[in-house]
Amino acid sequence: MRPILPVLTAALALSACAYNPELGRQQMTIVNDDSLTQAGEQAWNQALAKSTVSTDRRANARVRAVGQRVVDAAGLGQQPWDYAVFENTAPNAFVLPGGHVGVTTGLLTIVDNDDQLAAVIGHETGHVIAHHAAERQSQTVASSLLLGVLGAATGGDTARAISSYGGDAAKYGFLLPFSRKQELEADRLGVDFMQRAGYRPREAVVLWLHMQAQGGSSAPQFTSTHPSDATRIAALENYIAQRGW
Ligand SMILES: [Zn+2]
Repeated sequence: MRPILPVLTAALALSACAYNPELGRQQMTIVNDDSLTQAGEQAWNQALAKSTVSTDRRANARVRAVGQRVVDAAGLGQQPWDYAVFENTAPNAFVLPGGHVGVTTGLLTIVDNDDQLAAVIGHETGHVIAHHAAERQSQTVASSLLLGVLGAATGGDTARAISSYGGDAAKYGFLLPFSRKQELEADRLGVDFMQRAGYRPREAVVLWLHMQAQGGSSAPQFTSTHPSDATRIAALENYIAQRGW
């Protein structure tokens, strides 16, 4: 078994690293989009099963309208999308690969206007466009493989390690926290999308200030939006000023 290992490692390094022009950097993604779509489907069904969907028709229609404009602007409008408002006091939103947008009632109480709602959905869509979940998961798989390789050199079972970590990849992709760098990228992509959709990018700054004022970390597990710190807000303000928005 041992001669396979260097070949496998080299193949991974070659096939998994690609330049992403949206982000302007190299990205390593071992986990593919198909498994992400599947995991998105699972996470959506889980959210629907475990949470209470709001029966407020106006709120649902509002999220549908704003969400559709944002995903269209992000170039994802060609696929069908589901939208839902979840009864939850924690201000949160999520966009899942495969076409699902969820927003909590708590978020709707802190946004002053549709522009701010678009800023949140734009940020989450930014994570999807940038394949952040796949990237995060791939980093974990890669380090696990490395451990497997080390294990094999001392008599461990690499094949088993690979299939086990690969199998878990899709399952846990959405639970891994995003890195700081990924958050900044999602912020930037988010204002790009909302601007393209006709919303006012400056409202994104107001939104993140509202989020910051909320503080705490009582966010439900299926979401990935979280309060922002001063550095992030400053970076966003800088970017918006740079673009002349
Ligand atoms: Zn985020």
